[in-house]
Amino acid sequence: METRKKDRILIDLEKLNTFGAEGCPACGRNFELGEAVVPALGAWEGERYIHEDEAVYDKDTNSFYERTYFKEKPS
Ligand SMILES: [Zn+2]
Repeated sequence: METRKKDRILIDLEKLNTFGAEGCPACGRNFELGEAVVPALGAWEGERYIHEDEAVYDKDTNSFYERTYFKEKPS
């Protein structure tokens, strides 16, 4: 059950205004209109939106993780 897949969103003007200024915590780039982002866990507090291609979906925890963070996660 990959229920979290629905959390994937596209950056629109409203989203850009909401968290566009902070940029992506995974790669440091600013978000741009039309980019796909997901709420992911990583080397930061709680969930932050990052680019979809930088996230890994873990079906065991039903969460997205930042790619590098996920690899380092002890299993
Ligand atoms: Zn990014």
